[in-house]
Amino acid sequence: MKRYSVFAIAREAVRYHMGWERAWASPEPKAAYDAIIVGAGGHGLATAYYLGKNFGITNVAIIEKGWLGGGNTGRNTTIIRSNYLQDPSAAIYEKARSLYETMSQDLNYNVMFSPRGVMMLAQTHHEVRGYLRTAHANALQGVQTEFINPQRVKELCPILNIDGPRYPVLGALWQPRGGTGRHDAVAWGYARACSAMGMHIIQNCEVKGVRSEGGQVTGVDTTKGFIGTKKLGMVVAGHSGQLAEMAGFRLPIEAVALQALVSEPIKPCMDVVVMANTVHGYMSQSDKGEMVIGGGTDGFNNFTQRGSFHHIEETLRALVETFPIISRLKMLRQWGGIVDMTGDRSPIISKTPLGNCFINCGWGTGGFKAIPGSGWAMAELMAKGEPGPLAADFNMWRFKDGQFIDESVAAGVAH
Ligand SMILES: Cc1cc2nc3c(=O)[nH]c(=O)nc-3n(C[C@H](O)[C@H](O)[C@H](O)COP(=O)(O)OP(=O)(O)OC[C@H]3O[C@@H](n4cnc5c(N)ncnc54)[C@H](O)[C@@H]3O)c2cc1C
Repeated sequence: MKRYSVFAIAREAVRYHMGWERAWASPEPKAAYDAIIVGAGGHGLATAYYLGKNFGITNVAIIEKGWLGGGNTGRNTTIIRSNYLQDPSAAIYEKARSLYETMSQDLNYNVMFSPRGVMMLAQTHHEVRGYLRTAHANALQGVQTEFINPQRVKELCPILNIDGPRYPVLGALWQPRGGTGRHDAVAWGYARACSAMGMHIIQNCEVKGVRSEGGQVTGVDTTKGFIGTKKLGMVVAGHSGQLAEMAGFRLPIEAVALQALVSEPIKPCMDVVVMANTVHGYMSQSDKGEMVIGGGTDGFNNFTQRGSFHHIEETLRALVETFPIISRLKMLRQWGGIVDMTGDRSPIISKTPLGNCFINCGWGTGGFKAIPGSGWAMAELMAKGEPGPLAADFNMWRFKDGQFIDESVAAGVAH
């Protein structure tokens, strides 16, 4: 695989860009692999990448029913932060955030990580208490956050109205090294690196069944035939319930559509990410100038990857008091993704009732930020057969044992 560099761009510029290679190969499946990962979203691709990079396991297939990065990974609003309350969450999200810092160099692919700062507004006294608590917890966890006053909020984001009649801004939890990244590029960068290690990314290939013998998976039935494997990793977000059912077990997961929308592009007016959990909405400005606006989940379980009119109205109605400038903005596009929600709003990275089958899901409305950390932890679980310190607390049996990792405050607004 040729490296991308300024010299490569210069070389290609003088030969009409005829020398670029395809970023990843599209092979036909082999009869069997050492490991199969179902789902070529960010989490599946990152798992494969760290299986190769950290454990030297490269006889791997990543099987995707659509196109890589076409699920939630290519549909999210790209907020990256690690200001969670509980220790296991802070550990995995901070690991992910720190891996994002060097991801472009590691993958030799520009993922446009932009640590522009993320603030979560406190607009009720209850939220002030909650975020002060999180700031103290983050200090102990080594995650750099601080609770800032309304004047500092206004300095950092002048377009905010901090004196709203219903919900004045009382402060904010500020994470200066949080930010955004380019979601497609994260998937494409991992895919290119996996392909360069000889892994097979098999797109347009749906897993329809999981075969097992004596409590061990032997392979998967797909729309391209049976493919054998020694280890199986299920990383399919909103479709985790179906995959688990194919393998004969049940998960405490609900699938719902989560929606977002973008405005027409406007001049730069906001260089931080702002989340307003009480009114339920959040906003940042993309490099193209569009205001990227996130709303909530649908109030009922469904598998539709689309937007709906009432969400535009609800989200903009919620945000317009805090961001009066959006009252005359035209909205360009809206969409939805199927997210996988757990009861405690924390993920599952776990062994399963089948010995060589592992699952990574439950990232719900906020898993883009976790992609590298999650892939790192899932690769360790698949390679060693046992979870490492990052994944240990996120096992699926915590729901039976009552060992919840409650992040309903940190995950308050869907992002
Ligand atoms: C509107 C929206 C906004 C969001 N905003 C943010 C945000 O700002 N910050 C943040 O951190 N997170 C955000 N998220 C959440 C984030 O996008 C997800 O948690 C994350 O992308 C999940 O990645 P994944 O790899 O697990 O899933 P996906 O990217 O969905 O990948 C799973 C893949 O599995 C494939 N698959 C499913 N079933 C099968 C099968 N039977 N056979 C083969 N392949 C199969 C799917 O086609 C899909 O490509 C948002 C999500 C949405 C929808």
